[in-house]
Amino acid sequence: MPVRVRFAPSPTGLLHVGALRTVLYDYLLRQKEGGSCILRIEDTDRSRYNPDSEHEFVETLRWVGIEFDEGPHLEGGPHAPYRQSERQALGIYASKIAELEANGHAYKAFDTTEEIEQMREFQQINKVQIGYYGGDWRDADASKVEAAIAEGKPYVIRLKVPRDRKIVVQDLIRGRVEFDSNTLPDPVLIKADGMPTYHFAAMVDDHLMEITHVLRGEEWISTSPIHWLIFEAFGWEPPIFVHCPVIVGADGKKLSKRHGATRVLDYMAQGYLKSALKNFIALIGWSPGDDREAMSEQELIQAFSLSGLQPSPGKFDMEKLKWLNGHTIRSMTAEQVLAEIEGLYAEEHTKGFWENFVDEEVLPNQTPRDGKAIFERFEKFVLFARTNQEYALECIKLEQERVTNLIEFGEACEFFIVEEPAMDPKAVEKWFSQPHARALFDHIRSVCGAAVLTPDEMKAALVAFQEANGIEKLGPIVHPTRVALTGKTFGPGLFELMSVLGPDRIVKRIDRALAML
Ligand code: GLU
Repeated sequence: MPVRVRFAPSPTGLLHVGALRTVLYDYLLRQKEGGSCILRIEDTDRSRYNPDSEHEFVETLRWVGIEFDEGPHLEGGPHAPYRQSERQALGIYASKIAELEANGHAYKAFDTTEEIEQMREFQQINKVQIGYYGGDWRDADASKVEAAIAEGKPYVIRLKVPRDRKIVVQDLIRGRVEFDSNTLPDPVLIKADGMPTYHFAAMVDDHLMEITHVLRGEEWISTSPIHWLIFEAFGWEPPIFVHCPVIVGADGKKLSKRHGATRVLDYMAQGYLKSALKNFIALIGWSPGDDREAMSEQELIQAFSLSGLQPSPGKFDMEKLKWLNGHTIRSMTAEQVLAEIEGLYAEEHTKGFWENFVDEEVLPNQTPRDGKAIFERFEKFVLFARTNQEYALECIKLEQERVTNLIEFGEACEFFIVEEPAMDPKAVEKWFSQPHARALFDHIRSVCGAAVLTPDEMKAALVAFQEANGIEKLGPIVHPTRVALTGKTFGPGLFELMSVLGPDRIVKRIDRALAML
């Protein structure tokens, strides 16, 4: 049977990695088994409603490349509308609650806020299960209810949770999970303003939308008996519940912003590739059954199965994400990397992210990174590459071995593209004071600056100088040359970068170095 899975976020804010993992599993399951992926916006809690949120969800999912078959952002659909506020306006939940009231599984409760408070106090003092509804309306006479309605008293509609029962929820990862019905409140299904609560609207829609698997975070497991009971009250077959393991930081502690509880679009802005991010996120709490780590989307789909989900917490290991991202960059052609760089630059969020960037990863003895400068360098490289594509591709080829994310190409390639790279003063002091520096620079200027040479030829030119001058090692030749040409003491292979720089740039940079001696 084809699966029908839904991603049902509440539009209260941004989309973080936990939610991305849920929707990714929905997507992998749909791709693997065939079926439909539905986006449903659970916006019945108007007090927490954030008008920008839906756009954020759609934008994030567009960026990661997860497409839906049905949703509010698409035309029509067999179960439209897909926003719960619009479904409420159509009377969908009102007609469903009427069914539950008629069959005795729901009741109107007219308790005031003060009465509810008193009820809680009474429960605390008398050690009655907190949550258990202790008001007067659960079994009230019809005449009493009618009188309250006639008086115009506000009311909510509650689920009549059966007492003294064991509720068994089937969870695909954990198997049977048992709950004592006496620990459950009679949850509100319809609020005083007539809006359905999340519990009610979500379960009604899961049924009406013919959802086969409910994938969501483990934090929902404690509410799952209520959901189970709603299905039971209607006499509906519940979907398969799959509560995905919690995500913790690499240290096993609650996920914090530092660990990766970050907005998904911020990973994009930092130059993470969607393929690496999906690969990484899929592996938090799921295993393909072997020790594979770097996997393509096709491989993820082929290997994906709900039985590979683990009950134990999944670790968010930032170092692993960095490694996977670097690995993905290295596995691409320079042309593909350049296309990704252009794509990142075109994303609206990138610039804003870096303009407002506050470095939270500053180690002792480090200065915080300057977001504006990082973006400016990146932008400079993008614009340069548009008019100097071949050269830019050569630069990428050398740097893609070393960078871990796309944004770093700005800094890594800067020395290639500027006329006069910034010089590291300490490196200049150390290497330009070598006794052979002037002779070396003259030699490079006349040999390496005279023609286009291959890396091997560059090496031969430097070795020739070394041998002619009886210098024991190549280091004292390589280091001053690197500083003269790049301003830095680290970077890609010297002979390769010399070959890419070419004679004109070499001559100009060597002249500048000679003037600094
Ligand atoms: N709207 C709920 C949320 O905000 C969805 C929970 C569920 O998937 O059932 O996460």
